[in-house]
Amino acid sequence: MQTINSQFVAEHLERTLLLIKPDAVRRGLAMEVLSRFERAGLKIVGLKMVKVDRAFAEKHYTYEDIAMRHGEAVRNQLLDYITEDPVVAAVMEGIKAVETVRKLCGATEPTAAAPGTIRGDYCHHGFEFSRAAGQAIRNIIHASASVEEAETEIALWFTASECFDYRRADQQEHQYV
Ligand code: ADP
Repeated sequence: MQTINSQFVAEHLERTLLLIKPDAVRRGLAMEVLSRFERAGLKIVGLKMVKVDRAFAEKHYTYEDIAMRHGEAVRNQLLDYITEDPVVAAVMEGIKAVETVRKLCGATEPTAAAPGTIRGDYCHHGFEFSRAAGQAIRNIIHASASVEEAETEIALWFTASECFDYRRADQQEHQYV
């Protein structure tokens, strides 16, 4: 059997935060969406359902990030959206997990998200619709955008004892540890 390059694994094994947003939870899609990541070989190392209040949501969608990039009105709409019902929060682990998870999510705007991605397959609204509706774009899922953001977001949503180390049955096959 080929030897696993443990240095590569050590350098590229990442954890990332995934939020299955309230629209997906209400539509009964939470586990279906989560299973897409599991099927890709990513490992769930933390999982819970949470209904966050506005003060918590403000820490996740910060003024410095969201208001600066999209404006205050969009940030307020986003805070309304993420607090309206529970979300399913997960920490996913894998080689280059941040990039892989973002790829599976697809583009922010569902209209532009490619078929086969989660946003491409499970929603279809565009910015034009969300503007007319006066709401944040319902796009099923949030995933950390960078390794640094993943670290900050995981620390916000999960305590150390809520994340677990274990070996998946297919881990040898994927040669990831
Ligand atoms: P992503 O979630 O793809 O990383 P952003 O961090 O840019 O995207 O934005 C956070 C969330 O804000 C998006 O997932 C979407 O729900 C919402 N959003 C972003 N831009 C707009 C917009 N122009 N109008 C309405 N909602 C938006």
